[in-house]
Amino acid sequence: MRVTDLMTENRISVSCEVFPPKRFEGLQEVKRVTGEIAELHPSFISVTYGAAGTTPGFTLEIAKSVQRDGAVPLCHLTCVQSTREHVARVLGDMREAGMKNVLALRGDLPKEGTPCRDFEHAEDLVRFIHTQGDFCVGAACYPEKHPESSSRTSDMDYLKRKVDAGVSFLTTQMFFDNGLLYNFLYRMERAGIHVPVCAGIMPICDARQVDRVIRLSGSIMPPRFAAIADRFSEEPAAMTQAGIAFATEQIVDLIANGVTLIHLYTMNKPWIARKIFENLSEIIGA
Ligand code: FAD
Repeated sequence: MRVTDLMTENRISVSCEVFPPKRFEGLQEVKRVTGEIAELHPSFISVTYGAAGTTPGFTLEIAKSVQRDGAVPLCHLTCVQSTREHVARVLGDMREAGMKNVLALRGDLPKEGTPCRDFEHAEDLVRFIHTQGDFCVGAACYPEKHPESSSRTSDMDYLKRKVDAGVSFLTTQMFFDNGLLYNFLYRMERAGIHVPVCAGIMPICDARQVDRVIRLSGSIMPPRFAAIADRFSEEPAAMTQAGIAFATEQIVDLIANGVTLIHLYTMNKPWIARKIFENLSEIIGA
């Protein structure tokens, strides 16, 4: 099933993101995790590709497991370090496995050396994917602008180009202040970008995650959350509860203000996803 078929107007959709393991020995554990998440009946489960040192080759393996669990998989795919031949091979394997959905990403620039120049931007990958099969293609967007962008205006201009290249839906970088998303959606509308947007929510349940999240995503941490992390940093159980409560409240506010597509960055922690689904059960009809 194409994920855009699940993004019908006015229907609330909660999807989840998982990441594959770094090593072969971790595959069974991640499959168990995705199995537990599938039991929550998210509208789809996205599987990252090569992020944070994970093995890109395992993305399809986990996506197939998601499919066997009866959920709809969305495979991420990055391009900046890959040749066209390699990307064509990966897409061929996805096609053969019956995958219908791809999130087209540039990936982070290599810290050393020069990137392979076959694909410079996600926009190039979006075009290429459409030459390789009938895929439903999504892409990333950044309510606070991509950290490399010189301005929000240029980031929005490039987003428009990417969407016009053949993107059917977008997933946002995580954000912790809903005002940033509302502002972004308004600017998107003005820029003439009209595809569905999944709002990326990351429940932070460990105060040690805060610095890492800010460093990796460039997200602003609102004072309200900084106070929570500060107060509960030495009390793990309380911090978990507060992090789940904060994410739940963020989602309730989004839904109350007309956002219908929520994407949970689960960090492979099914119990956190389960708690949030339980907290929202009457709201999302889980
Ligand atoms: P692009 O859309 O190419 O944008 C990157 C930068 O280039 C931006 O500043 C943009 O404004 C600019 N730009 C875009 N097009 C042009 C152009 N034509 N000319 C000049 N400048 C341009 N990383 C992984 O490694 N694996 C994953 O699975 C993964 N999943 C992700 C999922 C989501 C929802 C998000 C938000 C990010 C994810 N990332 C992942 C991180 C992502 O790869 C990085 O943020 C990367 O730095 C940018 O990727 P992009 O696809 O947004 O790039």
